[in-house]
Amino acid sequence: MQPRPGTLHVVATPIGNLGDLSPRALETLRTVDAICAEDTRHTRQLLSHYGIERPLVALHEHNEDLLAERLVARLQAGESLALVSDAGTPLVSDPGFRLVRAARAAGLKVSPVPGACAFVAALSVAGLPSDRLVFEGFLPAKASARRERLAPLAAETRTLAFYESAHRIEEALADMATIFGGDRRAVIARELTKLFETVLDGTLADLQARVAEDPNQRKGEFVVLVQGAGDDADARIAEGKRLYAKLGEHLPPSTAAKLAAELSGAPRKALYGS
Ligand code: SAM
Repeated sequence: MQPRPGTLHVVATPIGNLGDLSPRALETLRTVDAICAEDTRHTRQLLSHYGIERPLVALHEHNEDLLAERLVARLQAGESLALVSDAGTPLVSDPGFRLVRAARAAGLKVSPVPGACAFVAALSVAGLPSDRLVFEGFLPAKASARRERLAPLAAETRTLAFYESAHRIEEALADMATIFGGDRRAVIARELTKLFETVLDGTLADLQARVAEDPNQRKGEFVVLVQGAGDDADARIAEGKRLYAKLGEHLPPSTAAKLAAELSGAPRKALYGS
């Protein structure tokens, strides 16, 4: 007789405060056959805090493709597995999507045990429009690639969410202020749920200055939320100019301007000039 297939439980863990691990997450981690973890040493520390001893399998971006098949076979053989990451919700700027996709493709049950997630926690205390959101995760490390990623977001009207690390927060804020405009409202949520949690709000120019003058504000882990562009003429013109410059690399100026005006909704005349 075929064994009943097991479930892959995708379990959120705390983003700082150990009190945020839910009772259901604890119960799941206690009872699965094995736990797939991004960094087994880190997860073992978390588990030992709760007195949990389960076998761990290292699953990270470099071996996920390779391991997914083997883990699916274990699930098919009736084992139950949990997937965790170093912090927060797996798959959110963390490994796991290939394993989840493989398990779902094999018709296996994949069940969430939800909990902490840094950008959702930040959004919940930011006081920025929160019904529509674009999650951008980490920006590229290289300045040119980062600016290229930010440029098309200048006209985005939904709130933007970014993850950032201590060693790039200043550069990222500087690029955001240049590309989105220094007067755009934003929130920096730092070290959420931890001892030195701070949530700063203000304009991008203001936040850039506060982070520059206070070394403590450059320490730890960050979520940066930026209010979307107003759906106004300025945003349409900014987008039109961006498209005009990009299309102008490949098309004659008149065709580039016609297309950019059509796509952005900005008047064609407004696209010439600086
Ligand atoms: N899976 C996680 C989640 O659910 O949010 C995110 C993992 S990602 C690799 C780590 C990044 O999330 C950090 O660099 C930081 O930008 C953000 N982050 C994680 N914990 C945080 C915290 N306590 N406060 C602020 N940002 C945090």
